[in-house]
This record gives sequence, C-alpha cells and structure tokens, in this order.
Amino acid sequence: MSNSINADWHRDHVLGSNAPMADRIVWHQEHVQVCGCRPIPESVLKAIAEQEPKNGGSGGK
Ligand SMILES: [Zn+2]
Repeated sequence: MSNSINADWHRDHVLGSNAPMADRIVWHQEHVQVCGCRPIPESVLKAIAEQEPKNGGSGGK
C-alpha cells in the first residue's frame, strides 16, 4: 500500500478554495483514483450522496 502523492496530477488539478461543491466532487472522485495522499472528506462524501439520485421512485416530496 502506497500513500504517495501524485505531484504531477496535483499540479494540473488545483482545487481553488473558492471552488463550488460540484467541482470539489469531481476533483475528489478523480483524485482518489490517481493519488493516495488524502481520502475524500466527509463533507464531500455527503454532497456526493445527496447529489446522486436514489433508485426507487416511491419516496418524494
Ligand atoms: Zn493527492
């Protein structure tokens, strides 16, 4: 198991502190596949779960 940082990828994929959550989600989903320096933070995981439509159309507002 290597938790090495993919410095080249990070150089090409700078996530600004002002980036919208949609950009953060895309960034982190790609990041976990190419780099092992950090896991996806809980706030982003939660946003991903809320973003993806759930299967089963019976519960709705
Ligand atoms: Zn990284």
